[in-house]
Amino acid sequence: MSISDYPFTQEAAEQVRKAGYSLDSLLEKTSFKSVRSRAAERVLGAIGGQIPDRRANSDAEALAELLSYPLARVIVSCLDDQHLQRRYALAEAKLAFSRMKDEKDALLQLARDLGLHPEGTEALRLHFAEYIRAAHRMHAPKWKLVNRDLCEGYLTVTREELMRLLEEVIRDKVQKGLPLDVDEKVCAKLTEYLDPLRSEMQKVNASQKADLGQVEQGAFPPCMRKMLSDVASGTNLAHSARFALVSFLLQINMGSEDVISLFNTSPDFDQERTRYQVEHIAGASGTKYRPPSCATMATYGNCPGEDELCRRIRHPLSYYERRVRFLGKEGRI
Ligand code: SF4
Repeated sequence: MSISDYPFTQEAAEQVRKAGYSLDSLLEKTSFKSVRSRAAERVLGAIGGQIPDRRANSDAEALAELLSYPLARVIVSCLDDQHLQRRYALAEAKLAFSRMKDEKDALLQLARDLGLHPEGTEALRLHFAEYIRAAHRMHAPKWKLVNRDLCEGYLTVTREELMRLLEEVIRDKVQKGLPLDVDEKVCAKLTEYLDPLRSEMQKVNASQKADLGQVEQGAFPPCMRKMLSDVASGTNLAHSARFALVSFLLQINMGSEDVISLFNTSPDFDQERTRYQVEHIAGASGTKYRPPSCATMATYGNCPGEDELCRRIRHPLSYYERRVRFLGKEGRI
C-alpha cells in the first residue's frame, strides 16, 4: 500500500507532519508548484464529480500526492461552499474506493487506521458497533442490521462490502473539520487557483439549477420552498421530506424526468435509485401517491412553520391551488 494513495489516514498525517513543510512553503515555493496544481486538480475533480487518479511513480511524486490533500482542504475552505465540501468528501472517498480494489492484505491495515477492525481473510468478521458507524447512510435492505447474520456481536462482510464501508468512513473523515479556519491572506495567495475553480462551480451550479417548467413556484407553500432550496444546496432530504416533495411536484403536474433531474444536485445522486422512487410515487405500481397533509408534515418535522395562508388550509396542495388562483386574479401568472 502506498500511503500517498490514502492521504486522509493517520499514517499519512504523521508523514506530512514529519516532513515538516510549512503551509507558507507549500503556497510559495516554486518546487511545490506541482503540489498546488494537484491540490487544485483534486478540487476541480470534485466539482465535476471525479478526482483523476494519479499514481505516484517516485518518492517525489508520492510526496506531492500526499501534500496535495491538506492543501486541497485549504482550497475547499477558501471557496467556502457547503455543497462543495460535501462533494469533495464524496469524491475523495470514491477515489480511495477505486484504489482499494488493487489492495490485498493492506486493505485490513487501511481499515484499522480508519477505526474498523475486521478479522479473517475472505469472510471478514466485523463488530456490529463498527458496522453501524460505517453503514449509517446506507439504506438499501442488504445493509440493514436485521438482514445480516449477527453472532455474539459480530457480523460477516465480504471484502467488497468492507471497501464500501470504508468508503463511507473516509467520506465522513474527509468532511469532518471542513471548512478549516483559513486566514484570508492564505486564500489570497491561492487566487490563481481559486478564480478558475469559482467559475467552474458557477458553471456546474447553473447547469444543475432546477427547471420547474410549467409549475408556478411563486405559489409553493413554505414547506415545499424549504425542501427545494435544501435540494438545490445539495442537502440530502430525509425520506419523509423527499416523499412529500416528489409527490407534491408530481401532483401539480411536473413531469417525472424534471423531478428526477431536480435531485441531480445531491452530492450522492443515484439516478437509477431516484428514478425508481419517483416512478413508484408517480404510480408505476398502480397507486399515484398524494403528498401528506399538513398535520402529517408537522409530525415528521417537515412543516417549517405556518404563514398566513397556512393557517387557513390543511394540505400543501390546497395552499398551492389557492395561491395559483390568487396570482391568476392579480394577473401575475
Ligand atoms: S402548514 Fe402545511 S402548507 Fe404550510 S408549511 Fe406547514 S405543511 Fe406546508
